[in-house]
Amino acid sequence: MHHTTALVLFSGGQDSTTCLAHALQAYERVETIAFDYRQRHHVELEARLKVLDEIRRQFPQWAPRLGQDHVLDLAVLGAVSETSLTRDMSFKMEASGLPNTFVPGRNLLFMTLAAAVAYRRDLQVIVTGVCETDFSGYPDCRDDTMKAMQLALSLGMDKRFLIETPLMWIDKAETWRLAERLGGQALVDLIVEHTHTCYLGDRAHRHAWGYGCGNCPACELRARGWERYRAAPSA
Ligand code: ZN
Repeated sequence: MHHTTALVLFSGGQDSTTCLAHALQAYERVETIAFDYRQRHHVELEARLKVLDEIRRQFPQWAPRLGQDHVLDLAVLGAVSETSLTRDMSFKMEASGLPNTFVPGRNLLFMTLAAAVAYRRDLQVIVTGVCETDFSGYPDCRDDTMKAMQLALSLGMDKRFLIETPLMWIDKAETWRLAERLGGQALVDLIVEHTHTCYLGDRAHRHAWGYGCGNCPACELRARGWERYRAAPSA
């Protein structure tokens, strides 16, 4: 089957912006989706609108392909979880080896809702920036989970979805390289300046790799990836 349409899970971070660029390169009609679950910081949701604006402005070859943006209210997640993203708790690792930001099954819910929107909007491919090489080890972001979801959603909605995960097996340095291959230095600069990753919602401190506190696990991961990318840009 020749795929021409896609829905990108787009949070406004480095990973999902790279996935969006990938989709805009590959598909003729691309829409975006995000979930508002009362994150402590609305910085991400604001960042994503800025990134969409900048992509439209700086990439005229992609702009006509970039369609509707969907933001679904998932306040219900606050009722089933107590994590540092939705409550006033600080980030830490649990005895289980998972960070306390983990909401059990959250990504399963995201994928299900994304598929429902994709169904309604007649979009064939669902693109998500989940990654097994990430530090977090979220079990609902693993490759096997995504393959199972693809099957469950395709059967359950009687429509053949393709779940595409361009970052599944690459690290953060390689994610920067992928961005550079897709959109050159302009896309790398856009990601540095406008995407948001920091768990603390810090937009006050500017580093070579972008804004953030510089100390939370998300900042550390982004900084390390950037350093390795800069040391070997086209490895
Ligand atoms: Zn941070």
